[in-house]
Amino acid sequence: MATLESLTFDNGFARLPEAYYSRVCPTPVPDPYLVCYSPEALALLDLDAGEMTRPELIETLAGNQLLPGMDAIAALYAGHQFGHYVPQLGDGRAILLGEVKNAAGEGWEVQLKGAGRTPYSRGGDGRAVLRSSIREFLCSEAMHALGIPTTRALCIVGSDRPVYREDEETAALVTRLAPSFVRFGSFEVFYYRNQVEPIKQLADYVIERYYPDLKNLADPYPEFLRQVALRTAELMAQWQAVGFSHGVMNTDNMSILGLTLDYGPFGFLDAFDPGYVCNHSDTGGRYAFDQQPDVAAWNITKLAQALVPLMSVETASQAIGEYPQVFGKAYLERMAAKFGLPAGGETAGLVMDALQLLAQNRVDYTIFLRRLCDFDSRPDATNAPLRDLVIDRAAFDAWGARYAAALRQLGSSDAERAAAMRRVNPKYILRNHLAEVAIRRAADERDYSEVNRLHALLTRPFDEQPEYEAYAAEPPDWARKIEVSCSS
Ligand code: AMP
Ligand code: MG
Repeated sequence: MATLESLTFDNGFARLPEAYYSRVCPTPVPDPYLVCYSPEALALLDLDAGEMTRPELIETLAGNQLLPGMDAIAALYAGHQFGHYVPQLGDGRAILLGEVKNAAGEGWEVQLKGAGRTPYSRGGDGRAVLRSSIREFLCSEAMHALGIPTTRALCIVGSDRPVYREDEETAALVTRLAPSFVRFGSFEVFYYRNQVEPIKQLADYVIERYYPDLKNLADPYPEFLRQVALRTAELMAQWQAVGFSHGVMNTDNMSILGLTLDYGPFGFLDAFDPGYVCNHSDTGGRYAFDQQPDVAAWNITKLAQALVPLMSVETASQAIGEYPQVFGKAYLERMAAKFGLPAGGETAGLVMDALQLLAQNRVDYTIFLRRLCDFDSRPDATNAPLRDLVIDRAAFDAWGARYAAALRQLGSSDAERAAAMRRVNPKYILRNHLAEVAIRRAADERDYSEVNRLHALLTRPFDEQPEYEAYAAEPPDWARKIEVSCSS
């Protein structure tokens, strides 16, 4: 186990030329305090839980001091935002402190989000508010527990320093961990500046560290692009299967490692609604739930374009050409598993018809699938707990009869299928209203117990946890008024 003083820093990104970033120190905040932390994420750095109580660590993760070996920088990138190219973005409020090498040999970049202004802040204040920090912390760790690739969140440090959004709020910093925070936009910025060498050097850096199997290929770039597309397809399959809506799928929020990156106005589906738009500011519904796989495909074409200086246009388009099939296959496999069916035969039809039933009847997606785990496939079974969720009982009965017949024909054992399905159909997700309760308590009463309770609950999303039954319920009426925007 490491102490703060014994952490080993590597800082690979900071050793790249300064074209990719600006050296900048975090701006201190007064009287920082720990709001919550993730023991699992802490373990990625080999840090003992006892370190979390040390003032030195809080000061460091508040941006008030650097540890020996850290090399603080803000990364440059550009990106397509809502379809339009924005030539200059970059870490406007995130500062990379350094990269820790753990005992297992993994490199984890340690980044503070909300650490103050950087050369890329444009008009922003470089800060994050407690509210959005709690959402990012909880969702990062919840996604990881769901088995979905994501950046991690180590902790939240708060400060009473005021931050002005629609109202006055207080500041917080999320310590994020990831092998790399390089985005599609990290390549785009140089493409649109007509700078080929930095594109190549960044590609070489990413391949060397994160796609090491490719580094000995005579021409690694097409395969690199292909693998990014494949990882993105897998990620989209996971988002769609769990019912996660990102909200701001701009190319600057697309990870080159296929991680879920930058939690802003995200949302999980409650009632199944394909057109769900979680971002209140996305009036055109560009990033609606059912658009995500296509948006990711479009974003990949923007990455491909940025890599065209390293390959021909034909090669680039070939490299990303498999995306639709790979996404389709990955999505069907995940949905098949959620329905306890094989990924073939009449499964696609059964799944799509079920989703249509859910959409037409506005049935809660997560609750339906969790109850489906206990489906009784005997011919005379009514499956009342499931049936009760659907207003159009006749439509449910018709679908249920087809599903039951398919299961019987497969010789599927109800008990075995139930156990397997419970491992892929979470009982607990980070519903907006759950986050909202935790946020209210933290912001109004300095009571972080609900944040911690939710965090602990969501690290075991597939377990029954009967004492938390209420957290698995449909949202209360007041939840309809929650609006989540880009303001964070
Ligand atoms: P997002 O779409 O939320 O990932 O943010 C888009 C860009 O705006 C990124 O470059 C952020 O770093 C930047 N940004 C967002 N909020 C702030 C802020 N409060 N201060 C400075 N930059 C910000
Ligand atoms: Mg972003």
